[in-house]
Amino acid sequence: MIKRKLTKQVKVGNVKIGGTAPISVQSMVKSKTTKAIIGEIHKLESAGCDLIRLAVPDFENAKKIKLVKKETSIPIIGDIHYNFQLAIEAVKQGADKIRINPGNIGGKTKVKEIIKCLKDYSISMRVGVNSGSLESDLLQKYEGVTAPALAESIFRWVKIIEDFDFNQMVLSVKSSDPRITIDAYRLVSKKLDYPLHLGVTAASGGMNGIVRSTVGIGTLLAGGIGDTIRVSLTGDSKEEIEVGKEILRSLGLRNNGIQIIACPTCGRCEIDVKTLVQEVEKKLNSVGAIHELPLRIAVMGCIVNGPGEARDVEFGVTGSRNKGVIFKNGKIIKKVAKDKIVDTLLEEICKE
Ligand code: SF4
Repeated sequence: MIKRKLTKQVKVGNVKIGGTAPISVQSMVKSKTTKAIIGEIHKLESAGCDLIRLAVPDFENAKKIKLVKKETSIPIIGDIHYNFQLAIEAVKQGADKIRINPGNIGGKTKVKEIIKCLKDYSISMRVGVNSGSLESDLLQKYEGVTAPALAESIFRWVKIIEDFDFNQMVLSVKSSDPRITIDAYRLVSKKLDYPLHLGVTAASGGMNGIVRSTVGIGTLLAGGIGDTIRVSLTGDSKEEIEVGKEILRSLGLRNNGIQIIACPTCGRCEIDVKTLVQEVEKKLNSVGAIHELPLRIAVMGCIVNGPGEARDVEFGVTGSRNKGVIFKNGKIIKKVAKDKIVDTLLEEICKE
């Protein structure tokens, strides 16, 4: 069991981050027009996204927050760089939280202006330091981007913001190198108890991005660190949520939703495991209420070892040359024709 470090709790709309709140999964919208943004948010919501981040590069985009919030119910985080007035406008347009990178917002007085507005509207803020925004004195002191440099930068900004009498903060210290990311978050977690937003920045896409993000985020979560996560992938934002949820499920940190496990197959395999996994996933996804159940389902390649190898999961399917087999807690409960495997599995799950 993972023992999570207990952090302070902040509110983002109706979602809580930190403390005993479940670890939330967030994504950043990639669409540009209001209509497309709303469509993308709806897709992310149905994939299980808890929080949405929206880029606010100018005042026109800040206004989109209000329009988007009329059509969606998920909390919106305005992502601000360089211009403190955009942060203020995002809050006025209804953002539930803002994210700033204090290193590029223009100095302490600009940060102070933002804080004043956040207090007026009771809005929280992520303070995100990353490798691209490290102050030059820290780059010099640590001879480049290092974990201690990232940690010192966030310590510096937290102190400044606390001196402005504000503590509704979530912190992040991201690097594109998972090793630096892991070390930086560990340093921060040791010293501060603000909730932490985990992520490996610019992780890339496809297998590369998934592995790098999983190594960075998963290692920290396994050590009890982290309150909200974002898997940054080049590509479909829905994939970020699917990967994020799977990381949490793998660590037993999020139990809602069916988890499918499958054997790698070997010379003993007697059914097409890959196709069967796809069929099981497709069928489960078509029955909304079922795919939210906290169940694990195994798809195994042979009857000789399959049920035994997957005895710790609730349901499983496998097959011999002629028959499909349904098993429950490692024991065979039904033998059916191969084309009835998935339907029979669903019937058995529904009996529960
Ligand atoms: Fe091989 Fe059977 Fe194990 Fe799959 S379940 S890896 S087919 S022995």
